[in-house]
Amino acid sequence: MRDLSTDTHSLSINTVTLRALGGLENIVHACARHGVPAIAPWRHEIATLGPARAAKLIRDAGLVVSGYLRAGFFAGDTARRQKIRDDNRRAVDEAAALGVGCPLVVVPGGLPQFAQPGSRATKDLGAARALVEEELAELLPHARAAGVPLAFEPLHPMQAAERGCNNTLGQALDICERLDPEDSGGIGVAVDVYHVWWDPELAAGISRAGKRILTFHVCDWLTPTRHMLNDRGMMGDGVIDIPAIRRLIENAGYRGFVEVEIFSDAWWAVSPDTLITTIRDRFRRFV
Ligand code: ZN
Repeated sequence: MRDLSTDTHSLSINTVTLRALGGLENIVHACARHGVPAIAPWRHEIATLGPARAAKLIRDAGLVVSGYLRAGFFAGDTARRQKIRDDNRRAVDEAAALGVGCPLVVVPGGLPQFAQPGSRATKDLGAARALVEEELAELLPHARAAGVPLAFEPLHPMQAAERGCNNTLGQALDICERLDPEDSGGIGVAVDVYHVWWDPELAAGISRAGKRILTFHVCDWLTPTRHMLNDRGMMGDGVIDIPAIRRLIENAGYRGFVEVEIFSDAWWAVSPDTLITTIRDRFRRFV
């Protein structure tokens, strides 16, 4: 396993973590100042500059783009389906413009949210999952043509209704294997410790994933968790054995960036310089 206490090249910060900085330019400059080698930006941050200028800004600061967020949220009503498709294709094109080989993170989306209240469609989890697979199949040729790998991210089951109806690594890999039986690299998984740490099949899933692991996200699970979205913990403050999961990931062959992704009202309230210093310290000690 890589020794992250001395390894200064593996850290990436998912820019949602630095939301308080209020935009890509500030984030890029702060990361460069603190010697953070890579970032994974979000679409709304790129939108102001456009992908080409954003890519130049990041490159000129000496940073690497480790991933792009995000596409997906497939489960919609039929009327919105084409709109979602078009938007996801645009996300692929932006990822392509940002950097060669940078994976695009794709989240599933929850139950169809625009069906009639109480109708079967709003409760049909199986149909929602089938729709996700259909739409991934739809998006995959476009992503392949653009050279953008899709990193499908299963989400914690507490988010199954609103954000992600695929909840285990095993489910995500089943889809990857059906859509890409040759393992050609066009589609793989994003493994986020926050979403998968509880899964009794995790070790088997990671070993099965092998080179399909396209990105690896870390933070921690706080007890108690006070908010389903915005109460993720800093590494070391919660109950996840992050090094044990990283060992599994690296044993499976993953050598890419380890991306810190912390949605947290508490950390967004802290000065960004303190936050980045804390991330660097915790990364060395608890990842
Ligand atoms: Zn994640």
